[in-house]
Amino acid sequence: MDKKNIDWSNIGFGYIKTDKRYVSEYADGKWDDGTLTENDMITMSECACVLQYAQTIFEGLKAYTTKDGNIVVFRPDLNAERLVNSAKRMEMPVFPVDRFINAIEEVVRANEAYVPPYGTGASLYIRPYMFGINPVIGVSPAEKYQFRVFTTPVGPYFKGGVKPLTIKVSDFDRAAPHGTGNIKAGLNYAMSLHAIVTAHKEGFDENMYLDAATRSKVEETGGANFLFVTKDNKIVTPKSNSILPSITRRSLITVAKEYLGLETEEREVYLDEVKDFAECGLCGTAAVISPVGKIYNHGEEICFPSGTEKMGPITQKLYDTLTGIQMGKIEAPKGWIKVID
Ligand SMILES: *Cc1c(COP(=O)(O)O)cnc(C)c1O
Repeated sequence: MDKKNIDWSNIGFGYIKTDKRYVSEYADGKWDDGTLTENDMITMSECACVLQYAQTIFEGLKAYTTKDGNIVVFRPDLNAERLVNSAKRMEMPVFPVDRFINAIEEVVRANEAYVPPYGTGASLYIRPYMFGINPVIGVSPAEKYQFRVFTTPVGPYFKGGVKPLTIKVSDFDRAAPHGTGNIKAGLNYAMSLHAIVTAHKEGFDENMYLDAATRSKVEETGGANFLFVTKDNKIVTPKSNSILPSITRRSLITVAKEYLGLETEEREVYLDEVKDFAECGLCGTAAVISPVGKIYNHGEEICFPSGTEKMGPITQKLYDTLTGIQMGKIEAPKGWIKVID
């Protein structure tokens, strides 16, 4: 298979149109068979539920080339399950897990020429999503939906080296108790735009959101879960019903326990105790882990001993082990790597 003529190591994280995308439509209580299409445009009513009331959910995962030349995706079954949970919370129809995985396979296969070669650090980002498409003016769930999957090649996350992030404790809230923080819905991102633009204007990379009820506990950033390392090398991750269950974070916990023999703990983490941790990182598909160097909290600065130049030692081990597993250099737990053949 000839690859596209793309400067893989320098493409960044932007949308690049690829050849084929998957679409399945839901109407009269059922999903159609689904198909691949070259048409990247969607035509819908001006009154479509997604446009008026933001009934839309999504997922994000990557396909990449391993050391031995296979094209693989990482734990797509967990993305499928998470989309099921998002759909239920948003009164949307469930797209079956097996069909989700097949759709991912079909789209990646159809866009094989866009899967970056091994060693470039780049990958093919996969975006499954679903939205209500028929006209809805009185507030109610749509009756017609589309489930779609498109792909876009993305460059290496740590281009030009790792630079630990500087983040601020946000004055905005991300998710209400009993709200939608635990599902991957577009609405959670719409309301975070002002907060992230504000943080960037002030010179910060990201926001640390606190729990909305007491504003004393760490939740997550706009698009990644926190992972902390204690001074005696225990991994601590915040527990909350309004955090999005990151697949990367859950995988890193397994890596910490099973591969590195570290103790792990998922519990409420108070902002007051963050200064006592040795390392801090953000977990998500995009970067696996981005180290955090500094947290700014209204005039007070929390600086982690790992500093602002490189990853802390435990963060680095977690990163190397999980990316080693993903790239086929380290044996993966059963079922983690799905080969697209
Ligand atoms: C997608 C997302 C994450 C990261 O999840 P992964 O499955 O690891 O990619 C974390 N937080 C939020 C709010 C997200 O939307």
